[in-house]
Amino acid sequence: MINRRKFLKLGAITATGATTLTGAEARAETEKLKQAGQDFSYLSGTKRDAVPTACALCASRCAAVAYLDGGYVVKVEGQPESKRTQGRLCAKGQAGHTQVYDPDRILKPMRRTGKRGDGQWQQISWDDALNELTERLRKLREAGEPEKFMFHHGWISASANALINKVFLPNYGTATIADNSCLGQSARIVAHELTWGNHADNWDFENTGYILNFGSNVMEAHTNHVAMSRRLSHTLTDHNTTLITFDVRLSNTAAKSNVWYQLKPGTDAAIALAMCQVVMQEELYRFQGEQFLEFCQVTPDPNATLAEKVAALQAHLAEYTPEWAEQISGVPAADIRQVAVAFASTNRACIISSRGATAHFNGLDTERAIQMLAALTGNIDNPGGRCIGVALNREN
Ligand code: SF4
Repeated sequence: MINRRKFLKLGAITATGATTLTGAEARAETEKLKQAGQDFSYLSGTKRDAVPTACALCASRCAAVAYLDGGYVVKVEGQPESKRTQGRLCAKGQAGHTQVYDPDRILKPMRRTGKRGDGQWQQISWDDALNELTERLRKLREAGEPEKFMFHHGWISASANALINKVFLPNYGTATIADNSCLGQSARIVAHELTWGNHADNWDFENTGYILNFGSNVMEAHTNHVAMSRRLSHTLTDHNTTLITFDVRLSNTAAKSNVWYQLKPGTDAAIALAMCQVVMQEELYRFQGEQFLEFCQVTPDPNATLAEKVAALQAHLAEYTPEWAEQISGVPAADIRQVAVAFASTNRACIISSRGATAHFNGLDTERAIQMLAALTGNIDNPGGRCIGVALNREN
């Protein structure tokens, strides 16, 4: 339990430099001082009711505790028992309770009464809304055009997602769906599905020696952001791990990197391909990469030998030189070559990526090139690389 005396004592130690704590000791000290799932009203001094919940403001769904004061949610904090987030929420999660009492929150169905864009609406009952929707859906289905019904949604709970995608829409007869992923993540997710199967990515930051980042701002936002950013921070500070970022802007992650390369928007694929070319040309695929290639289908022949796979890859990648990539991306060829060699020569390395690289018209192929670089260097399902990289027909 933290209290004023302990807080001041810790502050005094730090201020006078009387004791130097390692990163791990400082974290352990913080853990000891942390209040475990308790909160008090600063007005009345009474203990607030704590309700375990989960933040639903993004796909990470971090474990949380909502605190009620007089029946109102006044604060949301990380669930201190959560191993994944270690009791933390991001800034958006901590502000989540403001949505509940947002005066603009729509709580009842609204029917548009004017022209689209006129902003004229009339509140209607749930019965009226459901009857109207049912009638429109019935007409489409009876006309043999159920696919003209598109379901669009934002972040919703996993159970609601399953109900809509696996029960309602297939039974109605449409697969036309749009969600928030369409705007940002779909290219990366589909690239993973085509390459590895249906699986979200994750990385063994604790055991990695080199991190290559294509367009992920993991320090501020990424799926599972809270846990990922904490783990990455610990790795950078405790293990002095190298982080190289390719991004069009100086994000907080780029700012915490050893080197930030500002490339032209949408050109990450050229750099990833050029790095693959360097790896194949300079035979940096040897050992770890070779072992992994045994399991990869590189040519149309599923029985191709390792030598045939290597020859096919070298021929395919030959034209994608660092000089070619420099013309497209603006990143100097010498730097692309140097980073490729350093990355491939590090025994345990991982590549992270996100919207900066993949939310473009060529995002799917960009992500496939990035995953090829990870595969050619053997950094899949290895310590320090991409964890559980290959899915086994798992339903998500
Ligand atoms: S990362 Fe932030 S917004 Fe997403 S679930 Fe966790 S706390 Fe909520």
